[in-house]
Amino acid sequence: MKEVYLDNNATTRVTDEVIEAMLPYFGTLYGNPSSMHTFGGQTSRKIEDARESVSELINAEPGEIIFTSCGTESDNTAIMSALHVNPGKRHIVTTRVEHPAVLNFCKTMARSGYEITYMPVNKLGQLNTGELESAITDNTALVSIMYANNETGVIFPIEETAKIVKSKGALFHTDAVQAVGKIPIDVRKIPVDMLSISGHKIHAPKGVGVLYVRKGTRFSPYLIGGHQEKGRRAGTENIASIIGLGKACELAKNHMREENTKIKILRDRLEDGLLKSCPDAKVNGDRDRRLPNTTNISFEYVEGEAILLRLNEDNICASSGSACTSGSLEPSHVLRAMGVPFTAIHGSVRLSLSRYSKDEEIDLVLEKMPKIIKQLRELSPYGKK
Ligand code: PLP
Repeated sequence: MKEVYLDNNATTRVTDEVIEAMLPYFGTLYGNPSSMHTFGGQTSRKIEDARESVSELINAEPGEIIFTSCGTESDNTAIMSALHVNPGKRHIVTTRVEHPAVLNFCKTMARSGYEITYMPVNKLGQLNTGELESAITDNTALVSIMYANNETGVIFPIEETAKIVKSKGALFHTDAVQAVGKIPIDVRKIPVDMLSISGHKIHAPKGVGVLYVRKGTRFSPYLIGGHQEKGRRAGTENIASIIGLGKACELAKNHMREENTKIKILRDRLEDGLLKSCPDAKVNGDRDRRLPNTTNISFEYVEGEAILLRLNEDNICASSGSACTSGSLEPSHVLRAMGVPFTAIHGSVRLSLSRYSKDEEIDLVLEKMPKIIKQLRELSPYGKK
């Protein structure tokens, strides 16, 4: 049976049109965009077209788009740049629920003597912007706060946050890897200095990303070498993937509204159905301010990993906030920061949809999950049956 893929916050299927757009650049059109000859020059023009498509998705200017190798590189570059251009400032503000691409980089910076403030979130996973304002000092080089959370889908008040940060004179970066393509983003309305995008979350390939850097923002490159990306990111361009990302952004811009309306209807049917059919199930995160494709549900007194293994037997792909499944030994730092009880963190499952999600897939999960939960509860070491 074909997989039932409900793990789209981990990665997405590359859209056929994206693959088609990329194919020539693995074959006959292999020129180096930096070459002087016409053969190489034609790839360079295609990169500029892709830059334009990416910029249109977030209402930026093409010159503000820097192609990178992934969301992680974009996040690391944004932080490193902010520290380099502000050598006198030694403080970063971020949140406890960021992706490891920001959190672990900040931890590394802390070992080099930087002070890091990790803002808490409330039990809905929301940020208190008043507390954030008081955390920013004259010593703050950068505030890095994600647009939407990869585990819960909770959307932070980024416009308000950006305005606060700018009024305090610090640089503002947002990791928008999970938000871009799922909700409208307009960098003309939000005074963000830098914003990260990753290709493989929006139906483009893995291994390509973008760092948006607002015109006029002081910037220091992370990868140093040749003159690619106007000296802002050295390294011969991953042309095929860049072209694929451009195509994916064009499709996201043209279809986001109707696709996400459909995705939200499916997600809500899945979520409401599971809450009704599985006792002691709770949604983690702010249900009113959430990505349309994500639900994170705790099935108390059950191991999330056991749920995933049982779902896997029916070829249903999901992910969990409990230990080990994400390659880490720790239970989800996001759910811990939200104060979700231990027994609920361990029983948490994230289901994330995409434009390819279908009614039949939701039906299958709604059929299988109540039985799985009931059987696992009967075996549960946590007591409640
Ligand atoms: N930021 C967030 C919020 C993510 O969800 C991810 C990927 O899961 C990343 C950054 C890293 O992106 P990439 O896999 O392209 O390095």
